[in-house]
Formats: sequence, C-alpha cells, structure tokens
Amino acid sequence: MSSKTSITILGATGSIGVSTLDVISRHLDQYTVFALTANTHVEKLLAQCLQFKPHYAVMVDEASAQQLSQLLQGTVAEETKVLQGAKALEEVASSEHVDYVMAAIVGAAGLLPSLAAAQSGKRVLLANKEALVMSGQLFMDAIRDNHAELLPIDSEHNAIFQSMPVGQNLRGVEKILLTGSGGPFRNREIDTLHAVTVAEAVAHPNWDMGKKISVDSATMMNKGLEVIEACWLFAVNEKQIQVVVHPQSTIHSMVSYVDGSVIAQLGNPDMRTPIAYSLAWPERMDAGVESLDFFDLARLDFEQPNFERFPCLRLAYEAHRAGGYASIALNASNEIAVAAFLQGEILFTQIPQMIEHCLADSPSGTPTHINEILQQDSHSREKALAWKLDQA
Ligand code: NAD
Ligand code: MG
Repeated sequence: MSSKTSITILGATGSIGVSTLDVISRHLDQYTVFALTANTHVEKLLAQCLQFKPHYAVMVDEASAQQLSQLLQGTVAEETKVLQGAKALEEVASSEHVDYVMAAIVGAAGLLPSLAAAQSGKRVLLANKEALVMSGQLFMDAIRDNHAELLPIDSEHNAIFQSMPVGQNLRGVEKILLTGSGGPFRNREIDTLHAVTVAEAVAHPNWDMGKKISVDSATMMNKGLEVIEACWLFAVNEKQIQVVVHPQSTIHSMVSYVDGSVIAQLGNPDMRTPIAYSLAWPERMDAGVESLDFFDLARLDFEQPNFERFPCLRLAYEAHRAGGYASIALNASNEIAVAAFLQGEILFTQIPQMIEHCLADSPSGTPTHINEILQQDSHSREKALAWKLDQA
C-alpha cells in the first residue's frame, strides 16, 4: 500500500469539493484520492476523474452513473470504478482503504455518509454542517466511540478550533465570538425584503459558494446553523456563543478568555485555508491562498446581529434550545424553503414563515437513534411542502 494519505471527497463537484481538490493538487506527494462523489454533474466529475484517477467515482443518480462509466472508457482513468446510489456514498466513506473523508455534500443527503465516516474511525473534515445540526449528539458520540477525528471546515469553526486552548478543552474560555458577514441584505430596507430576487440572494459579498448556503447566508440561517454546529463541536451551550456581524469576513471567528484575552484567526476569505489546515493538522501546509495584507485592509467593522431583520437566526437559537427534534425540523424545513425560493415558488420573506410553521409542533427532546432522526426529517419536509401548497 502507498504511504500517502488516502482521501474520499463526498460532494467533489461542489464549491468545497473543488477547493479541496485544488489544495490536494498542490500536495500530490502526500495525498491520493480514493473516491470522488457527485449527485448528477457528470462532466465535472469526469474531468476530476481524468485528473486524479480515483479508485472509485460515485454518482447518486443512476443515469449519470451510466453516462460517466461510458465516458471513462478508453481514457487515462478507465480503471476508475463507477458506483451508483446513495448506499455507495457510505461504502466509499467507510472503506478500510480510506484515511480522511471530506464531507462536503450539501444538506441532509450528507448525513449517512458523514456518519459512516465517523463510525469507521476516519479523520472527518466536516463541511456538511446540516449533518451535525440534525444528528449532533449521535454524531459526536460516533466520533468519540470510534476514535475518529473531527476537523471543522466551516471557516468560523475552523477559526474557533485554531483559537481554542491546546487539547480543545474549555479551560479559561469565557465565550465564543462567531463572526458573520451579514450577507447581501445587511443594510437593505426591511420592508423591501419580500421583493428579493434569487440573483440578489445568491450574490454573496465576500464568499463564492453553492446556491443553498448562499441563500442561507442571505437569511442568516447559515449563522443560525453555525451556532448549533458550534454548540456540538465545542461542547458549549448557545448562551456561550455571541454572533458578531463583521461585514469584511476578515476575522473568521474568535475565542474570548476569562483573563480578557481574545484570540482570533484572520485571513482572506478563501475556503482553501481551513481545508489545508484540516488536511495537514497538526502541521501546516501551503493552501494557495495569499496572506493577508494589513496595509490593504481599509477597516474592520462590527455590529450586533439584528433578529428582526433576520428571523431565521432567532429561529435557530430557539430550535437549539428546544432540543434535537426541533433542530431537525429547522434544518428540514429550511432546505424545503430554500429550494422553493430558488424555484420562484415562495418569497424570500416566506422562508422564515415556513420554518416557524414547522417548528411549532416539533416534539421536545433529542432523538438517540438514526431512524428517529430520519423520520423527523421526512415528517418536517412533508409539513413544509403542505404549507407551501396552502399558500399557493
Ligand atoms: P455545492 O452546492 O457547491 O456542492 C454540493 C455537492 O454535493 C455537489 O458535489 C453535489 O453533487 C453534491 N450533492 C448535492 N445533492 C446531493 C445528494 N442528494 N446526494 C449526494 N450528493 C449530493 O455546495 P457547497 O457550497 O460546496 O457546500 C457543501 C457543504 O459545505 C454545505 O453543507 C455547506 O453548508 C458547507 N459549507 C460550504 C462553504 C462554501 O464556501 N461553499 C463554506 C462553509 C460550509
Ligand atoms: Mg461558515
């Protein structure tokens, strides 16, 4: 076997997947790609297979898998085996030949393969925050019980990880300062938010990301999901997390200590930094990212979050306080709401309305079994879809 670190990238064709491959391409002496996965994007996965020649390429969609398989014949990557279906995602995430798994599928679809990586003791590079929001306790237990390693890819959580005490304990920590840009509508008149277009919502001022997380950033649900994510990752409660709106996205988050010290991680807004950090940890390696030029930084601004402008942020705090079932309902209804908004079926301001409706009767407590999690997820999706039909 090769002495290189072998990696599976779940969601290889997405924004995080592409950045991960960019970092890996700079360090092919250290890393080798075991499997690449995608939903339907055949051409992009084909190009990645030709470049990285993985052992496996997984396409969830059957027709896409067949197409990819044909296109690979007679190429430099003809040895790459094409697998099809959601189950295959779990197989390539848990294979004994894999060391690290980049979990970069968007949404609940990433839960089972991310969990499979945790259960098989991998280093899990977690971008898929929705998985942790849905399964927090179960996921963290799986990491601990199987001696897996969990490295946060979300830039804020990666910054917090870097700013925490050695050993990632809470000794001397007063609170976590979770920064967020405030998205494209930080200053827009609140009474015009109903008229927000899809193009306006996905145009993030600082980060270039997938559509779903871009809309989440515009509603600040992204920050809400990140509050819950931070609670699980760092074993704190939501009262120990202060959201700080910081429009320049230069400080990626901070940890405040009881002695008055505040430790922050700064950098250009480029996901290759947290990706390279998590691959190389505890070492450091070149990420292809330019270092920050302090003489170029005009200024750094900070504001309180506005819960009236961003009701999704309030709903996320409420859901986390209410327990695991409510967090699953929050995530599921948000996924349905964002998809409906992107399809032009509901208004931007109806996103929090749909979520609030679904949170209203979610059970109290936290599920302990994966089937309970999946059941609540599908129940909340149905409820959200029914609400949408009622509005039409
Ligand atoms: P994206 O939409 O660009 O890519 C999503 C990837 O998931 C694609 O490869 C797609 O093929 C795959 N996928 C989609 N639906 C699937 C399904 N049903 N089954 C299997 N695979 C599926 O998304 P992204 O922006 O790369 O974000 C990925 C994850 O990382 C999200 O959870 C997001 O919140 C998180 N994240 C992203 C960024 C960023 O800068 N893009 C930053 C922090 C966290
Ligand atoms: Mg983030």
